[in-house]
Amino acid sequence: MQTVEERREYDRLWMQKYRKTKKWKEYNKAYWQRPAVKEKKKVYGRQWYTKYRTKYNADRVSWRQFYRDKLFEILGGAKCSKCGFSDKRALQFDHINGGGTYLLKVKERKDHHYYVKYANNPELARQTFQILCANCNCIKRHIRYKSPIYNMTR
Ligand SMILES: [Zn+2]
Repeated sequence: MQTVEERREYDRLWMQKYRKTKKWKEYNKAYWQRPAVKEKKKVYGRQWYTKYRTKYNADRVSWRQFYRDKLFEILGGAKCSKCGFSDKRALQFDHINGGGTYLLKVKERKDHHYYVKYANNPELARQTFQILCANCNCIKRHIRYKSPIYNMTR
């Protein structure tokens, strides 16, 4: 005779294996595409968001701040690398070789991914970013781009 625990363990292992089969994957995909299920998911998601909105947003902010601080630390302290300005509120991570806008818009759109990625990879972060204050960053842009908008000299 099997005990209840043994039976549960057996079921768990069986499920684990079954989830890797093609049959399960196909079924699962079809399941989530059923209109009724889709609708339910939408409603549930909305409910969840209404209920936890405040906490969710607060978490997101503190989370972002946490990783921002970490990046500052990695890059050698919260200080503009050109002029030494040190108010975090006006400091930005500048992509040394440009292309930041593209990366942010297309590839790394969700900014938490973006921060986590570099916070976990200090070497890459140091190669990619320098800390610039808003002023220096803006000036750099004017120098860098040939477009008339950015082509002011004073
Ligand atoms: Zn500066």
